[in-house]
Amino acid sequence: MDFRLTEEQEALRESVRDFAREVVAPVIAEHYEKHTFPYEVVRQMGKMGLFGLPFAEEYGGMGGNYFTLCLALEELARVDSSVAITLEAAISLGAMPIYRFGTEEQKAQWLPKLISGEALAGFGLTEPGVGSDAGGTQTRAVLDGDEWVINGSKAFITNSGTDITTLVTVTAVTGTRPDGSKELSTIIVPSGTPGFTVAPGYSKVGWNASDTHELTFDDCRVPAGNLLGERGRGFAQFLRILDEGRIAIAALAVGLAQGCVDESLKYARERHAFGQPIGNYQAIQFKIADMEMRAHTARLAYYDAAARMLAGEPFKRQAAIAKLHASTIAVDNAREATQIHGGYGFMNEYPVARFWRDSKILEIGEGTSEVQRMIIARDLGL
Ligand SMILES: Cc1cc2nc3c(=O)[nH]c(=O)nc-3n(C[C@H](O)[C@H](O)[C@H](O)COP(=O)(O)OP(=O)(O)OC[C@H]3O[C@@H](n4cnc5c(N)ncnc54)[C@H](O)[C@@H]3O)c2cc1C
Repeated sequence: MDFRLTEEQEALRESVRDFAREVVAPVIAEHYEKHTFPYEVVRQMGKMGLFGLPFAEEYGGMGGNYFTLCLALEELARVDSSVAITLEAAISLGAMPIYRFGTEEQKAQWLPKLISGEALAGFGLTEPGVGSDAGGTQTRAVLDGDEWVINGSKAFITNSGTDITTLVTVTAVTGTRPDGSKELSTIIVPSGTPGFTVAPGYSKVGWNASDTHELTFDDCRVPAGNLLGERGRGFAQFLRILDEGRIAIAALAVGLAQGCVDESLKYARERHAFGQPIGNYQAIQFKIADMEMRAHTARLAYYDAAARMLAGEPFKRQAAIAKLHASTIAVDNAREATQIHGGYGFMNEYPVARFWRDSKILEIGEGTSEVQRMIIARDLGL
């Protein structure tokens, strides 16, 4: 068992760390405050090859794997979660369904631009009335000649409304199975298709420099060939995408948790109270020690889940554990980092205020903490 990173992985980690500190950190607070999407940062991430990290070179990717993506996400989230979730969703939810399930024609058409970061894609699973119980999807797609006609709506879809969004993949009911259950399929809907409307961005508590919209489909017609993979495989497809995505969200949560340690260490050395730096007080030292312990153990959990996935072993339980644990400790660390910063921790100009606001969604997105517990319990045979 060896948890050390290879030289290549260390080099990637270093370069993303430098990028986050030198390029993201100086501009992100303003984007966050104004709720604007950081196009310039995304463009530079594209030039660095980050959008191609886990993809094969034949499609323009970097030939890495899902673990290298996780390392990059951790380093980005250590500085800012809006940028990290933009990359996570672009790869894990946007390009990956096409990479995993698309035909060669679909891959050739869409992947090069998604992998270069010139374009983004969204993944439309959640609906206004259906989230955790995603099998209850209401959106319908009916085959009419050589076109799918889609009707319904999707809620909270990341990267679905930027100026460079090129498509969303949408899960829809395409029929009824012999046992009476819904047949779900996934369909590619290019941006700008008539009948596909993107609502204005939500007013969110956090992730304010990321892009999230409600989408509606009103007799929206796309070619029959836009079906992703086999008809009726929608459920299995999104379960796979979400299992993998949980490892990536865990990495992002670890990054936020580690960012809380970074900022707290700095502040504990600078801030004086009762004649000495607050870092001299054991109460503060213990908080920071606990924060470091939580970040470290959560990191091991996602390393383990990623290693199992890359080895082709079952990883559902470990991915759920990693996501559940990492998101829980991210919230804990954000709360403690804010506490260490006192009143300044409640001021938006301090990164920990952003970390605090960004942490809560980690217990909700890509499967709530309750859903992770359900997955773990089921995997244990309950
Ligand atoms: C900023 C943001 C970005 C997002 N991006 C995307 C995206 O790109 N694509 C996408 O498809 N979705 C996206 N989502 C949606 C997200 O995945 C869902 O919000 C999440 O899965 C929870 O669904 P819900 O909000 O409908 O909550 P619900 O499912 O309504 O759950 C409400 C509460 O009930 C609990 N609950 C539900 N069922 C059970 C049960 N059986 N037992 C115990 N408790 C239960 C839940 O855990 C939760 O606490 C995003 C959400 C946000 C906020």
